[in-house]
Amino acid sequence: MRIKNIEQVISPPAPHMVGDGFRVHNFIPGSYPMDMERMSPFILMDYNSKVVIKPSDQPKGVGVHPHRGFETVSIAYHGKIAHHDSAGNSGVIGEGEVQWMTAASGILHKEYHELEFSKKGGDFQMVQLWVNLPAKYKMTSPKYQAITREMMPKVELPDNGGTVEVISGRYQDVAGAASTFTPIHLFNVKINQGAKAFFGFPSAFNTGLLVVEGSIRINGTDTAPTDHFVLFRNDGEEFSIQADEKSVVLVLSGEPIPEPVAAAGPFVMNTRAELRQAYEDVNSGKFGYLED
Ligand code: MN
Repeated sequence: MRIKNIEQVISPPAPHMVGDGFRVHNFIPGSYPMDMERMSPFILMDYNSKVVIKPSDQPKGVGVHPHRGFETVSIAYHGKIAHHDSAGNSGVIGEGEVQWMTAASGILHKEYHELEFSKKGGDFQMVQLWVNLPAKYKMTSPKYQAITREMMPKVELPDNGGTVEVISGRYQDVAGAASTFTPIHLFNVKINQGAKAFFGFPSAFNTGLLVVEGSIRINGTDTAPTDHFVLFRNDGEEFSIQADEKSVVLVLSGEPIPEPVAAAGPFVMNTRAELRQAYEDVNSGKFGYLED
């Protein structure tokens, strides 16, 4: 096994608002080398670093909007998020839980702070990933997977080192909760001060990690503090992390999808013609209906 070396430790880009509820650092796509292909199949990563939400009777978020051609994966670290879509699916996720929504041929959805959380206010922190679909799955039926805390498979690190929560893929001999269209390993690593964890992925898989909380050392050398993203080179298989303090780390690794990416707004297809079709279809009501 060769070491997977670091290509770049990326500081959080200046945040912007998505709707009125999500204040996000857009790591993917970002500045060079982080275009939509570099971390394929992860084509977008919005990170809402920890903020305090003021109490509001009117939940903040993003109103009804379409998606086609990919999946949105939301991971909550603090606070609660509610989702409704035109395929009839809805759900609420809280700390440690995941919504894996396959937009595929097209859905309308809305994403908000959950009502009771909104009324109370408090810490809010989450990640949203856009996971691309290969051409042959882009026009399949929409799908929704809610992964609750109880459903989340876990691997205990040795010597009370912490826990690896396996959202998808496989860590050691434990398979993740979510089903995916292409090979994707997605873990939440909760690691105690001084503990060490090892990860191995094929060198061709695009691999990165986000430090959600704490501070870690990677491969015994480079340090990555809170809210930083670490992009790995495709030069080896294995890396280690060691926690300088109690930390939470999102580890992501996936097999790249070797197809052209045509993206516009909420659509990610392979050609410009397919994007034009998506706008036509949404305007003619083919994505269904969802009340605002
Ligand atoms: Mn959305």
